[in-house]
Amino acid sequence: MSTGHLTIDLSAIAANWQALDAKTSVETAAVVKADGYGLGAGRVAKALANAGARKFFVAVAEEGSAVRTALGPGPEISVFSGHMDGDTEALRDLALTPMLNSAQQVKRHFDTLPDHPFGVQLDTGMNRLGMEWDDWAETAEPIMRAKPTLVMSHLACADEPDHPMNPYQLDVFHQMTDGISTPRSLAATGGVLLGTKYHFDLTRPGIGLYGGAPFANAQPVARIDLPVIQIRNLAEGEVVGYGNSWQTERPARIATVAAGYADGLIRQMSGKATLWHDGQPCPLVGRVSMDLITVDVTDCDDDPAFLTIIGPHQSIDDLSRAAGTIGYEILTSLGRRYSRRYTTR
Ligand SMILES: *Cc1c(COP(=O)(O)O)cnc(C)c1O
Repeated sequence: MSTGHLTIDLSAIAANWQALDAKTSVETAAVVKADGYGLGAGRVAKALANAGARKFFVAVAEEGSAVRTALGPGPEISVFSGHMDGDTEALRDLALTPMLNSAQQVKRHFDTLPDHPFGVQLDTGMNRLGMEWDDWAETAEPIMRAKPTLVMSHLACADEPDHPMNPYQLDVFHQMTDGISTPRSLAATGGVLLGTKYHFDLTRPGIGLYGGAPFANAQPVARIDLPVIQIRNLAEGEVVGYGNSWQTERPARIATVAAGYADGLIRQMSGKATLWHDGQPCPLVGRVSMDLITVDVTDCDDDPAFLTIIGPHQSIDDLSRAAGTIGYEILTSLGRRYSRRYTTR
């Protein structure tokens, strides 16, 4: 097997959902957009359903298909992007619940699927998705008469607990929704950790389920072990890889490893990331290429058959820092080429 091994701990995903659920006294949904943050929406959703999740969110209607297939009828699958032109059949046939984001989407939904469940997304200051104050003021009455499943909004700065945007958006959400009888939701992973005031009736964690910050106590979910294809001895002063960007300063042993930017080891990691052989850190040297990286294993006691890039010594967040990005991007960039193994404990 010459591709990298991606091991996904479904028990850790279940435990993370339960731990986030235990932080609130309200219902906890599960966000499985972007193919379950790159880890396989079907498998992930099934594990979360077994852990107790009954409500799921995806980004776009197309993503609802794999989740509905995995879960069967029953669990509610909601779509953040709402009811887009061309979504009507998918929403109906897969029993997906669009979170309507604009007066235009409300009209489209009421015209094409008048008896089909829907929710509403409000914009409370992030200026990304959801109805603005004026739209909402004009359409709230007919919308509420049609009994939405949920009224939700999203926090822009929830990963920074002291950010003034958090109480600001909380206040706007209250002003826009106080007095309605529909269940409300404001918190993703960061919002769960901000405390009770942010929980409303339903929370929507994503990244915390998959072992990422800001859920500091998350159990790690993904592990990646990369096969070493060959190891060579270099004299002092030899160069490695495209652009000759790295040169040895001592005699070195360099391992060529079977993964590259096509596998989500983004090029930005060139010369910055670290791989691990048991407890021994081994620096990635030279440029990341499409299918290969080169790693300095001079300090290893023995020749590694595999090097670990995500595992016990390095979380997705540790690796993301080496690349100037976030754990979310590391996971969702991983790509299709790994041999994937799902484990339960
Ligand atoms: C992605 C997303 C979530 C989940 O966010 P995490 O930070 O991954 O917990 C929740 N709600 C909305 C609207 C989202 O786009």
